[in-house]
Amino acid sequence: MVNYDFRLTNQRAIISEYLKENHDHPSVEEIFKHVKNKLPRISKKTVYSTLHFLCDEGLIQEVEVKGVQRYEPRSDPHHHVICRACGKIIDIESEELSSHALRVGKQIGDFDVESSNVHFYGMCKECKEAERNERRS
Ligand SMILES: [Zn+2]
Ligand SMILES: [Zn+2]
Repeated sequence: MVNYDFRLTNQRAIISEYLKENHDHPSVEEIFKHVKNKLPRISKKTVYSTLHFLCDEGLIQEVEVKGVQRYEPRSDPHHHVICRACGKIIDIESEELSSHALRVGKQIGDFDVESSNVHFYGMCKECKEAERNERRS
């Protein structure tokens, strides 16, 4: 007999462990690849529902970049710098920005703003260098 509960907890543990160790905001595709190494019979659908479960429980959070859902362990409120060329996401912590964004949010009428997440878009150092080299050649 398969211990269903154990298997379920196992999936959750593997996914949240993976996110704790990989701070580069992996996509479902990347998470699936990793989990499949450990649990070869897992389906992508199960990975999706496990991710949704962990989000609902507040253990992890979702960041959407260019229409792709990415995941990270739940942490203190923070913001993201996103490279528009390679899609790399870097965490930015700024108490100043968080409280300012919340202050702006509180002025929105008829809406109870609880949190905010600012995304900065631009080019990372590597992509900028690659672009510069391309222009030179
Ligand atoms: Zn880049
Ligand atoms: Zn983040």
